[in-house]
Amino acid sequence: MKVLNGMVSARSFIKKRLYLINRYVSPLKYRMLSTWINFVVHPTFRSLTMNYLFNKRSVLEKASRHAPLPRNLYFEGTNVCNADCVFCPYTQMERTKLTMPMKLFKDIVDQYVEMGGQAIGFTPIVGDPMVDKFLMDRLEYVDAIDQISNVGFYTNGIALKPEKAEQLVEFKNTTINMSVSFGGHDRATFQKMMGVDRFHLVQKHVLHLLDVLERNGHDRLIVKIDFRCPDSNSSDPFGRRVRECIEKGLVQMDSLEGNFDTFGGYVSQDDLDRVGLGLQMDYGYPKFGPCEIPFTKPLVLADGRLNACAERDLETTLVVGDLKRERLKDLLYGVRMREFVMQFYKPNSLPDICKKCTVYQSIYNVRAKVWKENLNWTPPAT
Ligand code: SF4
Repeated sequence: MKVLNGMVSARSFIKKRLYLINRYVSPLKYRMLSTWINFVVHPTFRSLTMNYLFNKRSVLEKASRHAPLPRNLYFEGTNVCNADCVFCPYTQMERTKLTMPMKLFKDIVDQYVEMGGQAIGFTPIVGDPMVDKFLMDRLEYVDAIDQISNVGFYTNGIALKPEKAEQLVEFKNTTINMSVSFGGHDRATFQKMMGVDRFHLVQKHVLHLLDVLERNGHDRLIVKIDFRCPDSNSSDPFGRRVRECIEKGLVQMDSLEGNFDTFGGYVSQDDLDRVGLGLQMDYGYPKFGPCEIPFTKPLVLADGRLNACAERDLETTLVVGDLKRERLKDLLYGVRMREFVMQFYKPNSLPDICKKCTVYQSIYNVRAKVWKENLNWTPPAT
């Protein structure tokens, strides 16, 4: 057991120090070094590279057999946000701020349902779903569709007004997974993390939500408090109330433990250092083969275009078509999507955003979400 614990802490020590190496060597040298280091210290990365080397074609074919349904279809209800988090480049975005019209939303949901879709995500690339003036209307629309079993989104809680918390427990059919990103246990830390002075307001909103959950005993609203600050424990009254509700099974808790990604190259370790909370950049594994995100999280943008990725593509450079003119089933894993996926076999020709992205997850990682047999997946062909 001691040996195992020692190995785990050695691995996390090395991984956390990779950002130091990244500061001083060229990207190519970093990739080579990181490949060797990860290969030696991470069994998951070892099995991923072996899978890539020996099962390149069969794994891609197996992932493609799940088409044309993605695991989850994401919607950018709005790309507007009300915070300026240290780990997010929202304020650098040059795109026009938009909200998706309900008519367009309904049309695309209907196409998705017709294809057999079951799960919807409302977390955009940047923006807060609670700022979307149509969020409750969208939830009402999908809640009335039996086939949509699951909806999920993150919010910073600033716009999670008491009346919205009351409305959320009214939806009875679809399971709603809501994660509240929480910046810190005191006003100063919260402001450093989230870029706005809304600590007391968000605490108030979360406390109200906990009361609503306690009063209603709702089992279709799954709430997770997601701590963005390095320390997720606090013994103040708010922390005690959250812990009490966790013990009662009303909410769950998660933490990034102060680790962040580069958001496609838009956020650097220097940006994290500036807030002085000991935040660290996690560079993930080097890229081997296609990223799983086009298979699991394509995103319908507020203007109706389909982006291959709902993760880090701030300026939406990975658009594969326009749903105002084309059908969803023709775009998901159509020619443009396929061409994009195949670019991962030629790392030099990858779009810039993917080259710099550190939330990339290879389809050759057997633990990737692309291999989970739930949500929309059709049974794998034998
Ligand atoms: S590498 Fe990053 S930006 Fe590219 S598809 Fe994957 S998650 Fe999206």
